[in-house]
Amino acid sequence: MCLSHSYLTGVMNCKKATELVEKGFIQPLTLKEFLALRVHLSLCSDCKNYKHYSVLLEKAIRPKTDHEHDIAYRLTDAQKEEIKLKLNQSMEDKSKNSGM
Ligand SMILES: [Zn+2]
Repeated sequence: MCLSHSYLTGVMNCKKATELVEKGFIQPLTLKEFLALRVHLSLCSDCKNYKHYSVLLEKAIRPKTDHEHDIAYRLTDAQKEEIKLKLNQSMEDKSKNSGM
């Protein structure tokens, strides 16, 4: 196998690669997309950096661990409503106290 850099990176251009990085945050990539992106990232340091900073940014925006993510999915709608209600109540309590 003797594939040149330009051939491999050419399979997916940088625009497409960054699009897939973004898409990966919203929904799981298909195996084909995942592999193509991985090949591109292993050869293109620009996109590798882009992904690195996107991940950091994403974590900053949504500070959620995988564990918490799991729990959120296991909750029923009724349980979620209950949590929302409790949160609202505690926020109201806080604003009452600070208003004194
Ligand atoms: Zn690239």
